[in-house]
Amino acid sequence: MPSLAYAREVAAETLSLLGPNPPSPAVPVLALARLLRVQVQPWPFTRIVGGLFGGEDSPVIVFNRVLPNQRVRLIVAHELGHYLLHSRSRSYFKCTDNDKTRAEREANSFAFALLLPPDQVKAFWRPYRTAGDVAATFGVPEEMAAWRLKGMGLISKG
Ligand SMILES: [Zn+2]
Repeated sequence: MPSLAYAREVAAETLSLLGPNPPSPAVPVLALARLLRVQVQPWPFTRIVGGLFGGEDSPVIVFNRVLPNQRVRLIVAHELGHYLLHSRSRSYFKCTDNDKTRAEREANSFAFALLLPPDQVKAFWRPYRTAGDVAATFGVPEEMAAWRLKGMGLISKG
């Protein structure tokens, strides 16, 4: 069974698929999905934000089509985490915003490590910058950027 540290390690490996000098801090999650041969499709969900179907062999990530782009990027990263960490043991995932199971926490750890690698966040960070600047530069929701910055002790926990 994967652990949170293992999830982070797999994320770092996945990032290395992009080569030594990725073009921008905003990780191209759709390009990564293509490299991993995972299809990505919008879906008319109501409560579900995203999911992974098709198991290991023909994986398809679906995301709630009403969500803004930065949320979609987070969902695709999270579902790629399920694909790489869990698709051998389970054939599908339906993800909501408040699911706190172990697999969900592992997929979230993967997504954070993929989209906001601490060394890159540190390199970008200046005291005059805000969580909004980090969110815009890395292409993630602002609350995700704030959570990362607090965890790294770069902004105070409010
Ligand atoms: Zn999930």
